[in-house]
Amino acid sequence: DLGGEILSVRNLNAYYGQSHVLHDVSLNVRAGEVVSLIGRNGAGKTTTLKSIMGVLRSRTGSISFNGRELSRLPSHHIARLGMAWVPEERAILATLSVRENLELPPARAGGWSIDKIYQHFPILRERGHHAGSKLSGGEQQMLAIARVLRSGPKLLLLDEPSEGLAPVIVQQIGRMLETLKAEGMSIVLVEQNLRFATRLADRHYVIVNGSVVDEVARHEVAAREQELLHYLSV
Ligand code: ATP
Repeated sequence: DLGGEILSVRNLNAYYGQSHVLHDVSLNVRAGEVVSLIGRNGAGKTTTLKSIMGVLRSRTGSISFNGRELSRLPSHHIARLGMAWVPEERAILATLSVRENLELPPARAGGWSIDKIYQHFPILRERGHHAGSKLSGGEQQMLAIARVLRSGPKLLLLDEPSEGLAPVIVQQIGRMLETLKAEGMSIVLVEQNLRFATRLADRHYVIVNGSVVDEVARHEVAAREQELLHYLSV
């Protein structure tokens, strides 16, 4: 059941120095919805997430989260309002154990306890005493996502969670995200893996050269699959 709008981005423009990378990007996410951003390498997907999260400050336009305007706030403030970003690099601490990785982020009211994380994702309990560096790529990705749950986010920004993972592991990550969706989490999912994106997302925004050029709902995907594959092909 989708609620009201949790995120609304209007006419977002973003810059790296002189280079104008995002052009009037507009998108929205309803509460409980999974929305994907798909597009080729360099299209501007990561930049969109960084701009929403306030990690990239050189941007204009409006970003409204639960009705609150974010575009002037620093990223740590945006995080406190209930948004979490999981970058492509899977930021985990390699020398610390899984449990220590989960203990480190400040737990907040409404955040997931370590027990709740272990209940939902038992593989992390099994690996609890293993160092981050000893985990498989898929386990590292699960840990990177699980860590941000400690602060109780309402919206997750996930950057290519399936990247570089074997198909069977990609399925594991997919199940993890389905579990989060069933818990009511809203998710913006950046992906180049169309199968993964279409399995999870309710809607897709297609980004080409820093612009949103198309929006495709779940029920339209089958009929438009060739077009979508074309958008992603190199
Ligand atoms: P990828 O999957 O490769 O991350 P993407 O769709 O996420 O692709 P972005 O990383 O957002 O694309 O990059 C958008 C554009 O901005 C590209 O042309 C890229 O070269 C450029 N760019 C990205 N990061 C920087 C940076 N730190 N400085 C300058 N230009 C950058």
